Amino acid sequence: MMNATAFGIPVLVALIGAALYRAGMPLAAATWLGAWVILLGFYHGYFLGRLNHWSGLPKMRDVPIGFAGWRRPMDKLARFMRLESEERAELSDELEQLRAAVDRLPDGLMLLDRFNHVEWANVTARDLHSVFGNRRPVHHFLNQPEFIDYLDAGQYAASLRLALPNRPGRTFEIRLHASDDAKKLLIIRDITDQARLDTMRSDFVANVSHEIRTPITVIGGFAETMLELDLDPDERRRHLESIAKHSRTMQRLVEDLLTLSSLESAIDKPADESIALEPLCDSLIADAGALSGGRHTIESSIPPGLRLLGVSSEIESAIRNLLSNAVRYTPEGGRISLEWLEQRGRGAISVVDTGIGIPADHLPRLTERFYRVDRARSRVTGGTGLGLAIVKHIANRHGAELLIESRAGKGSRFSLRFGAGRIIRPESAPQAPASGPEGAAQGVR
Ligand code: ADP
Repeated sequence: MMNATAFGIPVLVALIGAALYRAGMPLAAATWLGAWVILLGFYHGYFLGRLNHWSGLPKMRDVPIGFAGWRRPMDKLARFMRLESEERAELSDELEQLRAAVDRLPDGLMLLDRFNHVEWANVTARDLHSVFGNRRPVHHFLNQPEFIDYLDAGQYAASLRLALPNRPGRTFEIRLHASDDAKKLLIIRDITDQARLDTMRSDFVANVSHEIRTPITVIGGFAETMLELDLDPDERRRHLESIAKHSRTMQRLVEDLLTLSSLESAIDKPADESIALEPLCDSLIADAGALSGGRHTIESSIPPGLRLLGVSSEIESAIRNLLSNAVRYTPEGGRISLEWLEQRGRGAISVVDTGIGIPADHLPRLTERFYRVDRARSRVTGGTGLGLAIVKHIANRHGAELLIESRAGKGSRFSLRFGAGRIIRPESAPQAPASGPEGAAQGVR
């Protein structure tokens, strides 16, 4: 809408001037018009001056308020400036949020210019590499020769694994992404867990291959001897027994591997059931007796009526593994017992033996796959080296602890300690501490 004042006043002034002239007062008309021209000059000069003064202010202050013809453009300018400053504030808020988010990233980010000088780094990168100040060459902060080679080679499709001197024991992966303008984004990520998993996986494959190679070699050797030589019936029988023994070892290994793998896939976890412990333990004790062949005294003191919430097949497998170990690592004449102990609402089922025991320094690694204190002895007794790894997994799946107390030459106590929520007690559960080998202990969650 046009400003009426801006046009109305000059027209009125001109009309009055013309009227004065026509009325025969040219001097008055000239004075009238001259006065208005001077006034107009002052008016515009005043606002131009204010505008000029405002534009020179260091920070954008409020636009001066206009009057008459200047009102509309000044108002427009003020509105424009207001919108502009709102947009700028919004943009700087967004930028701030973005920067805070980028700084919170667990990955370190660095922007390098075409000369590989650090243009910018997020907080993680600054912490990792002690980056300070911009525009310094990246090799001031990352000076490992393998990184320098990687940077120079320009083959950024592959990543680089790197150890940092200020983060001992951790593994990092560096990736570089080059942009068209020759700038590079350097991303550094802590991949310690992944690297550990990779090592575990390749160790595992190597271990399995190693475990399988021995029985396969033996079976192959005996089979070839039987094919090539004309053996007498006794020799043939001995060879066939060896073949059968080693194929049983392989079978146990494969079964244990399958058990471990099914335990590791959480999707497969069956629903908990209420397990009557006493009958289960009695049947496991009978199996252990068969394994022992009468060489040990084996007994159970599980309170009648005691029930446990859990996966029956898994609890059975865990106790079976512990009992089998007790039988295999207890010399003839030893005692093996299954006990139940409650403390502070929690309940533990323990397999106690008077066997060879375990030196304290082995305890922390005992549940690692294929870890054995005495490899030869484990083999001779038909061990796969996976029993305790299976027990530990089962314990974890039941929110239980696997506690190992042992003393070399004195015996061991392996306990599965369950939370109160899993125990359905009979009235007569014993509360007194049970006896076990006093010695090193290890809790394995
Ligand atoms: P293995 O099949 O070799 O018995 P496990 O995982 O069951 O494998 O046990 C790992 C190692 O822990 C065994 O090789 C053995 O050295 C030790 N161990 C386990 N149970 C006992 C025990 N009751 N007494 C002494 N040593 C044991």
